[in-house]
Amino acid sequence: MIACDCAVCRSTDPRDKRTRPSILIEVATDRTSPIARAVKSVLVDTSTDLRAQALAHDVRRVDAILFTHSHADHVMGLDEVRRYNILQRDAIACFGDERTLGDLRRTFDYIFNPPAGPAGGIPQLTLFRIAGPFLLGGVEFVPVPVLHGERPILGFRVGSFAYLTDCSRIPDSSWPLLDGVRTLVVDALRERSHPTHFSVQEAIAAARKIGAGRTYFTHICHDLGHAATCARLPPGIELAYDGLILHVD
Ligand SMILES: [Zn+2]
Ligand SMILES: [Zn+2]
Ligand SMILES: [Zn+2]
Repeated sequence: MIACDCAVCRSTDPRDKRTRPSILIEVATDRTSPIARAVKSVLVDTSTDLRAQALAHDVRRVDAILFTHSHADHVMGLDEVRRYNILQRDAIACFGDERTLGDLRRTFDYIFNPPAGPAGGIPQLTLFRIAGPFLLGGVEFVPVPVLHGERPILGFRVGSFAYLTDCSRIPDSSWPLLDGVRTLVVDALRERSHPTHFSVQEAIAAARKIGAGRTYFTHICHDLGHAATCARLPPGIELAYDGLILHVD
């Protein structure tokens, strides 16, 4: 938090240094498949901190981008992906729901409605509207609609892994999509309730209902120190942290 002297903001534990929420899914590809070879690195959201995150974690490829929603903390790093256009000599496929794609077109008018003539330094992106499960690199990605306050947004499921950032309620119709999830990343902003994010107690309840073997909380605010919070969470649940790597089926 800018200009905050609280214990978490002043903490020297690197796990208390949190940048904005985003994950990178690297698909272990079947090298014999030309489709699988084409897509192996899928970024979920382009956070305000994308450039710093890509440098810190040495991200060398971004083949596709999935958007959960269009709030500023999840999209404002989009311009930075032009570096991957140059490295990969190709446009990047971007997937989102209709509202998110409309917001991206408006927010980044210079990308999607560029002036005529030579345009240097503008990201090359191809937008696709998510209308159901889709394949990337031979792997099925399942959109999981969740409510972020009043706003319906998307989580994503891949195999036994689900990522539900920015979530205050899971609608009845989405619970079956989470059947069999064994590794879960889910929103838990703070202890106090919040209109658009799960509190810790709400996130614990959702995690128990999903029944994943291991659950990691994300979108954490500075109310929650890493070590102290993890010490009092139930078994199988802990706070995620920047740079956390998970292996999933
Ligand atoms: Zn603070
Ligand atoms: Zn949001
Ligand atoms: Zn957010």
